[in-house]
Amino acid sequence: MNNILKKITAPNGGVFTGKGTNTYLIGNDEITVVDPGPNIPEHIKNIIEIGNGKIKQILVTHTHTDHSPGALPLSIELGIPMYGRLVDGKSDWEDETFKPDKILNHGDLIETKEYSIEVIHTPGHASNHLCFYLQKQKCLLTGDHIMDGSTVVIAPPDGNMKDYLDSLQLLKKYDIDSFAPGHGNFMDNPEKTIDSITRHRLAREAKVLRNLKIHGSQKIDVLLNHVYSDVNEVLLPIAKMSLLAHLEKLIEDKTVMLENEIYSLS
Ligand SMILES: [Zn+2]
Repeated sequence: MNNILKKITAPNGGVFTGKGTNTYLIGNDEITVVDPGPNIPEHIKNIIEIGNGKIKQILVTHTHTDHSPGALPLSIELGIPMYGRLVDGKSDWEDETFKPDKILNHGDLIETKEYSIEVIHTPGHASNHLCFYLQKQKCLLTGDHIMDGSTVVIAPPDGNMKDYLDSLQLLKKYDIDSFAPGHGNFMDNPEKTIDSITRHRLAREAKVLRNLKIHGSQKIDVLLNHVYSDVNEVLLPIAKMSLLAHLEKLIEDKTVMLENEIYSLS
């Protein structure tokens, strides 16, 4: 597989991005670039050099600012199209420069002599999130749906926990040998990874419910301190987004209700 899939990491390491955003180059003769990352000239130059005149198109998994802003300059420089989806509503980390030449839909196929990429719509982290499945290689490019080494942020309103969990289960329908994530290293054991992420999320959800039962109705900040007492204080603003996503799911499930900013069990 390694001779068809190359990974290069953008120099944008940080709290949200780990060592940086991974850009993938698929193929040798007709190259597809997935997630050119942020618009960092040295990274774009690097992609063009490695592509060696053979890059034909750009795909983006979603339009957060660490994944897609490199698409426009790369598309202009090489005169090639970029494909992806637009978000349903609004998101705080939206890259406004991304205007797809064609909108990708679930089930679309992108085929060359060397490889076939199946488009899988996986809303949750973002409403427009796509995973790209390399059919012959049985490798899934997961973007931010599944990351290596860190928990994916689900930030409402564009992020949605229920969709996220559904999109994780959807992946089980595909015959996948490995994940190529948007951050971190290649991952084996896809099924085990999906199950462990799901368990982790449901355990947190159970903790929210337990707390509402024990401590009664609460505002989100009080609940945050109870439910995420194991999380480093620096990460609490991020945890708050995930907590909100959990609460929105529980409201949708009709297990929790919200009145005057106070959450309680239904
Ligand atoms: Zn993202």
